[in-house]
Amino acid sequence: MEDRLAINVMACKNCGERKGLIQAEYNVYHVRCMNCGAETKRYMTQILAIQKWNLGEVSVPRPKETPSIQPLPIEQEQSDRKFIDLTLCQMYEQLGTDVPGNHGDVVDFVYDDVINTRDLAEDYTDEDVRIGFRRFIESVSEE
Ligand SMILES: [Zn+2]
Repeated sequence: MEDRLAINVMACKNCGERKGLIQAEYNVYHVRCMNCGAETKRYMTQILAIQKWNLGEVSVPRPKETPSIQPLPIEQEQSDRKFIDLTLCQMYEQLGTDVPGNHGDVVDFVYDDVINTRDLAEDYTDEDVRIGFRRFIESVSEE
């Protein structure tokens, strides 16, 4: 059993909750509010940590940034691939050729090419897909 400390942990100066808990890490101690996350620095003794806590010498974590509404990366990738897929199929049609057996590889290649070379500030267009397709043809003929 621990000796009872001669000093009480007061309510949190930041949020008023009585959930300040003394926490020991290795040989240092700090007090942290379980409600708002306010906490003292680390001190060599529990008494010192509690004194600092009671004086309100705490740092308060910044509020979490509100998440911006962005499509999940996986959804973005799927829609990018779908766009490339459709654009390539239109190109095959214009060329009067069937969808090649390695169409999946072409989509992979063009996807990497378009996503890696595009200006992130701008949307890519079917022209970028066309350029990506040309690079694919070039890369195949280089082998
Ligand atoms: Zn608090």
